[in-house]
Amino acid sequence: MLTIGCHLSSAKGYLAMGKDAVKIGANTFQFFTRNPRGGAAKPLDIEDIEAYKRFAEENGIGRILAHAPYTLNACAKDEKIREFAKNVMEDDLMRLSYLPDVMYNFHPGSHVKQGSEAGIDLIAEHLNGIVKEDQKVTVLLETMAGKGSEVGRSFEELRAIIDKVELSDKLGVCLDTCHVYDAGYDIVGHLDEALKEFDSVLGLSRLKAVHLNDSKNPFESHKDRHERIGEGSIGIEAMERIVNHPDLRELPFYLETPNELPGYAAEIALLKQLYK
Ligand code: FE
Ligand code: FE
Ligand code: ZN
Repeated sequence: MLTIGCHLSSAKGYLAMGKDAVKIGANTFQFFTRNPRGGAAKPLDIEDIEAYKRFAEENGIGRILAHAPYTLNACAKDEKIREFAKNVMEDDLMRLSYLPDVMYNFHPGSHVKQGSEAGIDLIAEHLNGIVKEDQKVTVLLETMAGKGSEVGRSFEELRAIIDKVELSDKLGVCLDTCHVYDAGYDIVGHLDEALKEFDSVLGLSRLKAVHLNDSKNPFESHKDRHERIGEGSIGIEAMERIVNHPDLRELPFYLETPNELPGYAAEIALLKQLYK
């Protein structure tokens, strides 16, 4: 069975997200842990979490994906900005430990003129500070488009970060189809080769989730503008190959396409139809 969902608003809590997911035919979902621009988190609502757990169990929602605010920068030059990223992610991990089965995805960061090697060192230092021996939540590094000075534009950069983290068995990778295509991995013309490269550099066992997005821009454009499924430069045929690929088909897929709920429902129905 295809495991598919989309990014949902977390404003009304977990039970509300579970209900939205079921309404649009999803069996998983992604959400921001707090305002994506990094504001304060809502108070932890245990009652909502308990109600969500029952609802998820009854409705077949399995593992879900939390997304850190995208404005955090774990490799900022300014120590205060790095400190903020650490505090937010530590707090998120504490809150997420109340959920039954969740992974936590984040954007590695932007090195802003420090160079990618310095960025890699700072991100590894950040992860060494927040990843704990007893934590159940797997932390995912997202593959980035290479916009500006983003770190994580190549599989090698993610590998270099992971190699410097002591408890690296707590880490995984989330592959964003728009980002990797923008970064220069040809998942349209050469999907097998791109996945072989992922395997040889990072190991496919690290791959835990897929962000399924089309791209508004051409191959290798380093822009990071998501498009609806089938309406961008990746196209519907490549999407069909992606969801069915033996290396990917068992993974959870998350849409982050420019849509409201009805648009997501239509994309989920389409992808279920394409899934063999
Ligand atoms: Fe992301
Ligand atoms: Fe993404
Ligand atoms: Zn993106």
